[in-house]
Amino acid sequence: MSLANCVRCGKVFMRLRNPMCPDCQKQEDELFERVVAYLKENPGASVAEAATDLDIDVDVITKFIRAGRLASVKPSWQVTCRECGAAITSGEYCNECRNKLAEEISRAGFKRAEEPKKQDEGQAKIFLYDRVKRN
Ligand SMILES: [Zn+2]
Ligand SMILES: [Zn+2]
Repeated sequence: MSLANCVRCGKVFMRLRNPMCPDCQKQEDELFERVVAYLKENPGASVAEAATDLDIDVDVITKFIRAGRLASVKPSWQVTCRECGAAITSGEYCNECRNKLAEEISRAGFKRAEEPKKQDEGQAKIFLYDRVKRN
């Protein structure tokens, strides 16, 4: 257990395993529940339609997909590989690019440092979630 900055709001908290502080985790879980409930009503909806109807950011849904959280609920929702743009069902990269990147990283002995979140970015997100809650 150690101190870390929340990846969502930037607040310092005691990190167990989540990269998010408990407050943000709770909000994320609520959003996730809303997406799942929406999908029960609208099983054929696209990511863009869900984002519009729920008034949440497409990025929020994309993040759930990348985390693999929606894989069992909505396996047809896909995201794109950050490297080559191929359609993938979870994660950041397709298998091919992941292998390639892992190879490059081990060859360079390069360790990616965790970038601290910018303050204004966190505030913009808090504003967004406040707006969502009021609806
Ligand atoms: Zn937070
Ligand atoms: Zn790729």
